[in-house]
Amino acid sequence: MERITETLSILTEADKVSADEPRVLEEELAVGKKRLYIESYGCQMNFSDSEIVASVMRNAGFATTATADDADVIFLNTCAIRDNAEQKVRNRLKQLNVLKKRKPELLVGMLGCMAERLKAKLLEEEKMVDIVAGPDAYRDIPKLVEEAETGQKAVNVFLSREETYADISPIRLNSNGVTAFISIMRGCDNMCSFCVVPYTRGRERSRDAHSIVREAQELSAAGYKEVTLLGQNVDSYKWASEDGTENVNFAQLLERVALVDPDLRVRFSTSHPKDITDEVLYTMAKYDNICKYIHLPAQSGNDRILKLMNRTYDRAWYIQKIDRIRAILGEDCGISHDMISGFCSETEEEHQDTLSLMEYARYDYGYMFAYSERPGTPAARKYADDVPNDVKIRRLNEIIALQRNMSLERNQRHIGKIQRVLIEGPSKRSDEFLSGRNDQNKMVVFPKGNYQKGQYVNVLVTDCTAATLLGTTV
Ligand code: SAM
Ligand code: SF4
Repeated sequence: MERITETLSILTEADKVSADEPRVLEEELAVGKKRLYIESYGCQMNFSDSEIVASVMRNAGFATTATADDADVIFLNTCAIRDNAEQKVRNRLKQLNVLKKRKPELLVGMLGCMAERLKAKLLEEEKMVDIVAGPDAYRDIPKLVEEAETGQKAVNVFLSREETYADISPIRLNSNGVTAFISIMRGCDNMCSFCVVPYTRGRERSRDAHSIVREAQELSAAGYKEVTLLGQNVDSYKWASEDGTENVNFAQLLERVALVDPDLRVRFSTSHPKDITDEVLYTMAKYDNICKYIHLPAQSGNDRILKLMNRTYDRAWYIQKIDRIRAILGEDCGISHDMISGFCSETEEEHQDTLSLMEYARYDYGYMFAYSERPGTPAARKYADDVPNDVKIRRLNEIIALQRNMSLERNQRHIGKIQRVLIEGPSKRSDEFLSGRNDQNKMVVFPKGNYQKGQYVNVLVTDCTAATLLGTTV
């Protein structure tokens, strides 16, 4: 019992660790090669893209390093979703400038969404940047590096209607060897009024279903035990073979990946409430290895705000989707959300609608943000960003507090029950414990015994925090 109490206090500390830190690709053997350092900001999609960039650069004679000081080329794979994401990158550039002054031949490249949003303007604003490459220009990066090596600035921000990088095998560099992301589509056609993604990642396109299944097979053969299918809006995945004889929707793709190996878990993210179908939910129910967890961003619980946001569903539609999930997949199915506080003209009552929607949905987890106006988006052009910052933050804090209570409550449901956990590695705070996730994507921590990462174990849950389940193997 004492041990459990001690572990819980460790975990409470660990819960506070931000999941928002940039991620760095790890060290590779690099005899006779130039060295590339990549730092990724923002969403899983960006991290997955960095693995594609590393693969392209490997073919051009580069090996990755985990230390910026050792690099010949530094790439920051950037995010533009909120202003603070961009400020973080600008601050990082200031630090890197010190390095560049010491080592003038060092090349610095900006990749991803911020590069696409600002284009060549970035080169004027940030004089130390040599290369700017948007999300569809990664095949061109070796050429851009060559150009920059001659002392010129190099830019490619062309957005494609076809590029899916289907034929490029990502280099899974700082992988735990257990879980991996597979990008299944790129871009977004949804035009939510607050969002910069359609402008930075271009039109929606789905990747060849066969190349996705092949990638899952290769990962399974290499010992991976879980894949997450990634896209801005996975439920609108739609691929047709060139001769038109084969059409694959998301439910069918999910089934094909689930059939690769019953021991390979399948997750996916993100679902859009307007597109998730009963067919997807029944496919999830049919296969034990498709995890019972759905990330279903709501953004607001109020009809007027949802309309201004151009989310194309209303509160009743969203509630009906939650009801379908619970009816088909049961009460235990994990559901998480994204929510924005203080969108243009949001009133106190409308904010209350967000809180009441959360209470209805009983979410397990949430990603919660204060509205940040993004230049060029429909909201920035049409509506005043008129909710004062302190009000946005106060509402955000109310949303976070409610989510914390609900997460705790949802986690408590598991106490006394046995969970099947896929071990991902040592617990963050203690080598004496291992951690992994259950079906609903909840982190579970337990004493390590003789178990190893990549194994499935049954864990009896004995306690929990709002973020973590704690137990012992049975
Ligand atoms: N495609 C996903 C969807 O529609 O749910 C999410 C994509 S976006 C990368 C992740 C989240 O960032 C959004 O769901 C939204 O909550 C948040 N977000 C996007 N633009 C924002 C903005 N301008 N201000 C605050 N949060 C924003
Ligand atoms: Fe942005 Fe909306 Fe597309 Fe999500 S669905 S990426 S929020 S435009």
